[in-house]
Amino acid sequence: MSHAVKIKSIEHLTHDVLRIVAEKPSGLTYLPGQAVDVSINQPGWENELRPFTFTSLPEDPHIEFTIKTYPMHEGVTNQLLSLRVGNEIIIGAVFGDINYKGEGIFIAGGAGITPFIAIFKQLEKKGEIGNNKLIFANKSRADIILEARFKSLLGNRFINVLSDEKPEGYEHGFVTAELIKKQVDQKTQYFYLCGPEPMMAAVVKQLSSLGIEGNRIIKEAF
Ligand SMILES: Cc1cc2nc3c(=O)[nH]c(=O)nc-3n(C[C@H](O)[C@H](O)[C@H](O)COP(=O)(O)OP(=O)(O)OC[C@H]3O[C@@H](n4cnc5c(N)ncnc54)[C@H](O)[C@@H]3O)c2cc1C
Repeated sequence: MSHAVKIKSIEHLTHDVLRIVAEKPSGLTYLPGQAVDVSINQPGWENELRPFTFTSLPEDPHIEFTIKTYPMHEGVTNQLLSLRVGNEIIIGAVFGDINYKGEGIFIAGGAGITPFIAIFKQLEKKGEIGNNKLIFANKSRADIILEARFKSLLGNRFINVLSDEKPEGYEHGFVTAELIKKQVDQKTQYFYLCGPEPMMAAVVKQLSSLGIEGNRIIKEAF
C-alpha cells in the first residue's frame, strides 16, 4: 500500500545532498537502517520508484530522508531538487537488510551513510554508542554528510577517508585492509557496509583478507 505525504521541509545538507522531512503515513513502521520505495506525486513521476533510507527514527512524528542528487541522470533525484514545502511524495513498501546487531565498525561510502545515520541516532538516544566506529569514504571534505555531528558523537572513532583531497587530519585514498585492521579491537563484533557496489566489493575482499567471516558482515549496496 502506498501513501502520498506532504513535504514539511526541504534543505541542502551539502552541495548535492538534500534533507527532506515529510509527514509520516499513519501506521508506518520500519527499523533504523531500512529503506522504502519513494516516488514524486507529480504527473509522469508517480511510478518512478527509487529506494531511499529513513534517516528519522520510527517513533519520530515525521519521516526524514537524506538524498544525494544526480542532476546529470535527469531522474528522480534531479526532480527532487525542484520540490518545495507542500509538494507531495509517495511512500511505498519498506525493505532493507541493514539493522543493528551489536558493536562494530561501520564503513560507508558517500550516500551509503544513510542507514548508519538512523542507527547512530537510535544508539545515541539509547545511550548505547559504546565502542562503535565509523569509517566514512568520500571524494572531498565538501561531500561529507553530517561531519560535525558524527565528530561530536564519535570523536576519534570517526575516521574520514578522502580520495581526491589531502587535508590534514583526514586519511587519503580509498578504504584499505590496513586502515580497517587498525580499528579492529576486542569489542569489534560486526562490520556494517553500505556504499556503491565497487566500493562494497573491494571492502568485502579486504575483510576476507583479514579473516573476517561473512556472518559478521552486514551490508547493502546503493
Ligand atoms: C536500499 C537502498 C537504499 C538507498 N537509500 C538511499 C538514501 O537514503 N539516500 C541516497 O542518496 N541514495 C540512496 N540510495 C541510492 C538511490 O536509490 C539512487 O541514488 C537513486 O535511485 C538515483 O535515482 P535517480 O532517478 O536520480 O537516478 P537514476 O536515473 O535512477 O540513475 C540510477 C543509475 O542510472 C545510471 N545513470 C543514469 N544517468 C547517468 C549519468 N548521466 N551518468 C552516470 N550514470 C548514470 C547509473 O547507473 C545510476 O546508478 C539507496 C539505494 C538502495 C538500493
